[in-house]
Amino acid sequence: MNAIIIGGGVAGAAAALALHRAGVETAVYEARPTPSDGVGAWLTLAVNGVAVLRELGVRPLAGIPTPGMQLGLGDGTALTEFPMGEGTMSVRRTELYGALLDAVREAGIPIHYGRRIVGLDTTDSSATAHFADGATATGSLLVGADGIGSTVRSLLDPRAPKARYLGLLNTGGFASGIEVPTPPGLMHMMFGRDTFFSWLASDDGDVWWFANPARRREPDRAELAGISGEAWRSTLLDLVRRDDPVATRVLEASDDLLPAWPMYDFPRVPVWHRGAAVLIGDAAHAASPSSGQGASMALEDGLALGLLLAEAGAGGGTGMTGTTGPRAGIPAALARYEALRRPRVERVIAQGKASSSGKAPGAFRPVRDAMLRAYFSKPRATTDTAWLWEYRVADAVAGARA
Ligand SMILES: Cc1cc2nc3c(=O)[nH]c(=O)nc-3n(C[C@H](O)[C@H](O)[C@H](O)COP(=O)(O)OP(=O)(O)OC[C@H]3O[C@@H](n4cnc5c(N)ncnc54)[C@H](O)[C@@H]3O)c2cc1C
Repeated sequence: MNAIIIGGGVAGAAAALALHRAGVETAVYEARPTPSDGVGAWLTLAVNGVAVLRELGVRPLAGIPTPGMQLGLGDGTALTEFPMGEGTMSVRRTELYGALLDAVREAGIPIHYGRRIVGLDTTDSSATAHFADGATATGSLLVGADGIGSTVRSLLDPRAPKARYLGLLNTGGFASGIEVPTPPGLMHMMFGRDTFFSWLASDDGDVWWFANPARRREPDRAELAGISGEAWRSTLLDLVRRDDPVATRVLEASDDLLPAWPMYDFPRVPVWHRGAAVLIGDAAHAASPSSGQGASMALEDGLALGLLLAEAGAGGGTGMTGTTGPRAGIPAALARYEALRRPRVERVIAQGKASSSGKAPGAFRPVRDAMLRAYFSKPRATTDTAWLWEYRVADAVAGARA
């Protein structure tokens, strides 16, 4: 059996490693001419995602261990603190993508750059990708890991919905030479008067940050690309002017600001697989970046797919189409993949949407702040989010088998 993976991002790399481990001959096809760094300066990889990296033999990531989060208001009031799981790491995008791609290369899995999928034919036992340069590739399985703007998604289902704009932008960066009031590893999330702003200190005195300025109208990508980092700095300085001065200090001490990025999610993608083709990662289920789980979901998908196909005998050398019984064939394995993953990812998406909604209150800001104060003044369990990061996908696959 052989698999062709469309997209060399987080999900594609994880699936490549997991399928390779399952004994499947695997190759990755990436649209960009060179390795992708993804978008955004840095991200927080929850411990459930870190556990997948370990399982796949990816080297430990360098970054800031981030076991906890603190929520606060723009006036400096701290609302609450809660755990995010020992092992959760904040890492530069380049570190995560680099570690995954190193592991893919070390496994000897070929990555073909400059291959943008534009067409797809699939039956129950094979799938052929057609690329923009006229080349084709055929596999017994095609994995669509081509991100939130997925082409494979619309090739599988031309009526697939579009991503939902969340009314927020995201920009961020790195500051040094300043002090913040939170200890290293405690991520502070400030519900500011005019913008949402987050900072995280490292042991060596750097401060990583991001902001989610509200923008009601969905911006054009070209429009955002035309706004310089310095223009963003002055916009953000204006937006945090009435808040705790920490945010101002962080912005003033930052290196270059990255261009802003609109934030999206996908409430529900109805079709995840057809014939021998399947969607994983953001192509199947983008959660709002506010969930802090998008990359971990992508990693979990990749590992789950590899484990389920291994269980179905994918690496047996003769292919799966000749086997019989209820577990036979790729379509059956893909149906089991969807049954395992859909309930979890849709719960994460709902949680991410709820987290996003408090970030752009507009004129309702005083009401939001009063509600946050009232809510967090009640005694409450500190493990409300534990279901997100205590999950281990390998255990879930084993549990589904039992
Ligand atoms: C601003 C922002 C902040 C975020 N913060 C966090 C966070 O803190 N924690 C977290 O866990 N997640 C976070 N996320 C989400 C996380 O980045 C994504 O969920 C994750 O990158 C999804 O991985 P993926 O492999 O599905 O998609 P991607 O990483 O986007 O990879 C898709 C790949 O497919 C390629 N591709 C696209 N089209 C084609 C085509 N037609 N043919 C071939 N290849 C193609 C792309 O070039 C790319 O390399 C954030 C997202 C954003 C936007």
